[in-house]
Amino acid sequence: MFEKVLIANRGEIALRILRACRELGIRTVAVHSEADTEAKYVKLADESVCIGPAPSGQSYLNVPRIIAAAEVTDAEAIHPGYGFLSENADFAERVESSGFVFIGPRPETIRLMGDKVSAKQAMIEAGVPCVPGSGGALPDDPKEIVKIARSIGYPVIIKAAGGGGGRGMRVVHTEAALIAAVTTTRTEAGAAFNNSTVYMEKFLENPRHIEIQVMADQHGNAVYLGERDCSMQRRHQKVIEEAPAPGIDRKLIEKVGMSCVAACKRIGYRGAGTFEFLYENGEFYFIEMNTRVQVEHPVTEMITGVDIVQEQIRVANNEPLRFKQKDIQLRGHAIECRINAEDPFKFTPSPGKILSWHTPGGPGIRVDSHVYAGYTVPPHYDSMIGKVIAYGDTREQAIRRLRIALSEMVVEGIKTNIALHQEMLLDANFVAGGTSIHYLEHKLAAK
Ligand code: ADP
Repeated sequence: MFEKVLIANRGEIALRILRACRELGIRTVAVHSEADTEAKYVKLADESVCIGPAPSGQSYLNVPRIIAAAEVTDAEAIHPGYGFLSENADFAERVESSGFVFIGPRPETIRLMGDKVSAKQAMIEAGVPCVPGSGGALPDDPKEIVKIARSIGYPVIIKAAGGGGGRGMRVVHTEAALIAAVTTTRTEAGAAFNNSTVYMEKFLENPRHIEIQVMADQHGNAVYLGERDCSMQRRHQKVIEEAPAPGIDRKLIEKVGMSCVAACKRIGYRGAGTFEFLYENGEFYFIEMNTRVQVEHPVTEMITGVDIVQEQIRVANNEPLRFKQKDIQLRGHAIECRINAEDPFKFTPSPGKILSWHTPGGPGIRVDSHVYAGYTVPPHYDSMIGKVIAYGDTREQAIRRLRIALSEMVVEGIKTNIALHQEMLLDANFVAGGTSIHYLEHKLAAK
């Protein structure tokens, strides 16, 4: 096993990776910006290196500084976490060409899946069900574009091949608006992602977001670890996630899961990954793959017993997976609430000093967070300060435990979205299960 791993990230995921390393007996190096000197994982790590000022462009995205930190500390491998450089193929390549192990897929795989047009093509070839669409980049000829839209049927969505984070998409309801929408999306995509390629898909009106977690090793083995339902979103950002997805035929999930496994084997996937789908009227439609650990990975860990971060490290160390598909049994139900430093209903960020911080406990409760009383949430980064996860034998029990957990939680000094979560956990439609990706936005708009 590696002796030392460098964690190229911050926040709760840096602490999560640190804990996984410690359990595996690996020493850790935390890299941090000047704004994160006081973070818990920086203190807990065996070594820490300041890699630059607060703005992430000068620190967490600063590739030469991160490589230099790995060199001076003699780290053997680099875990990129999520966000920042985790899906940057050039970074993964630099890590490997500098003689370190990248804890993630091969750079070519990241590049293939990072371009949504090539990703979709690869998925179609592997037999993964996709949203009906242009089957590749849109041509320049407006007449051809009109023809494609007619064959798909309105509404359609124009998406940037290089898009991410919910940006670079435009819904078109009528032919009259089509060409202008394509032109605008192209221009924006060129400016934002340095890639003006766009493609077209059928716009699904009221889908759920269901994703499949996979894990693959470097010896040709791949398994899927069930699914997660992440439909509770605001502005394409997930707010509540759960596993398994309520009310979906297990046979259908098994079929889609096995198609993801086949795709992993076909593209030579390595490590943890997530196939994201929209689910509507009993059908799954692939939208994209995330080639990294996800924020919501704990709900899968709770119902499978697999430590996804430890497995990532083992796979990077060239070990074969320690389980086969038949060993993966889903047990019980888990739900995660993302705790953000923000106004619960206006969503304005609320960075600042945390005066008191009391986390819940009891059977089935897990809190993943790097903050503590006296810690100052810096204004420079994502507002997520932790996650509360509840496990139960049934979905009802998980919801009850989560309600109790949130009622025990005390955060003073900054605002958090806990009140929003409390409201959602009492919402009759959420409790019934199976709400669509628009549910939260509609509920908030009605308020
Ligand atoms: P990103 O990489 O920016 O997250 P995705 O392709 O994952 O982009 O899409 C983000 C979100 O946009 C989806 O979760 C869904 O809410 C919406 N979306 C994307 N494609 C479609 C579609 N064909 N029909 C309806 N909604 C879509």
